[in-house]
Amino acid sequence: MIVVMQHGALSDQVNEVIKKLEKNEFTTHLSEGIERTIIGVIGDKTKVPSLALEAMPGVEKVVAIVQPFKLVSRQFRPGDTVIDINGVKIGGNNLQVIAGPCAVESREQLLEAADIVKAKGATILRGGAFKPRTSPYAFQGLDEEGLKILAEARDRTGMPIATEVVDPRHVDLVSEYADILQIGARNMQNFLLLKEIGKTKKPVILKRGSSATIEEWLMAAEYILSEGNYSVILCERGIRTFETFTRNTLDLSAVPIVKHLSHLPIIVDPSHGTGKNYLVAPMAKAAIAAGADGLMIEVHPRPSEAMCDGPQSLDEATFGALMESIKPWK
Ligand code: PEP
Ligand code: MN
Repeated sequence: MIVVMQHGALSDQVNEVIKKLEKNEFTTHLSEGIERTIIGVIGDKTKVPSLALEAMPGVEKVVAIVQPFKLVSRQFRPGDTVIDINGVKIGGNNLQVIAGPCAVESREQLLEAADIVKAKGATILRGGAFKPRTSPYAFQGLDEEGLKILAEARDRTGMPIATEVVDPRHVDLVSEYADILQIGARNMQNFLLLKEIGKTKKPVILKRGSSATIEEWLMAAEYILSEGNYSVILCERGIRTFETFTRNTLDLSAVPIVKHLSHLPIIVDPSHGTGKNYLVAPMAKAAIAAGADGLMIEVHPRPSEAMCDGPQSLDEATFGALMESIKPWK
């Protein structure tokens, strides 16, 4: 449930409500909007009537959140969440482009890719150092060496870096280097990983599992928020359907649905969403039209030589053309 405070309620009144709730073993999450303050409350709701919260000074009303996700819901926070990553804002009226190779393959490859995406207008650099591959025999990433290369690319270009964490035991290590932690589709319901990342203050990109419903995806985000980390960016990256022509079916209706249900920003990854380079630009534009807060695009200096996901990676020219075509929205 949420406790909606009156317009202009005093901070002492807010604190009194929180004190009473916490004394009764409720967990509280404060959301201070421009218009009013809302207290998200998690706990045994049968106890609520006896607390007489609505009679407390400064309280306007107590409202049940009907959806299973609470902190993630728009009811809890009516305004859009805007996440600031070293000055790069995701959410609200901003459109950010996260770009880079699927995997960090070498220092030369990553720095070359970073220079390309920076020159064409990307605002955040991506690259996997720990790769969750379908085959145990495929390239698994450069591990910490890859993180060091990403950090060098950040120093060189000024772009914040986003990289995937695949194991709860790696959260501290990856956090030392990364500005944004990515949770991949395969790990969307790795609840230990979600909880561990929820304990950090790092912005998180939470990709949709390839067979996750929107509700399951938002519940995964709820795990992160419930641990105290509110900086979650949802990423639609395609789901598995009967269609096999594309690698996945990019569910762009998820964008307005998530915006309706949640205050969290949502970005779209048309690279994994389609698996084919010529589909990336049209679906990127469609994502913007649907209201996405950003794009995640795989870019490789020479896609034909990529160690993973070459067929869906753009090169300098095609990425440049895409960036040019979306300029009016940037
Ligand atoms: C990735 O972004 O490199 C990746 C592995 O994507 P996904 O988890 O969406 O498959
Ligand atoms: Mn990839």
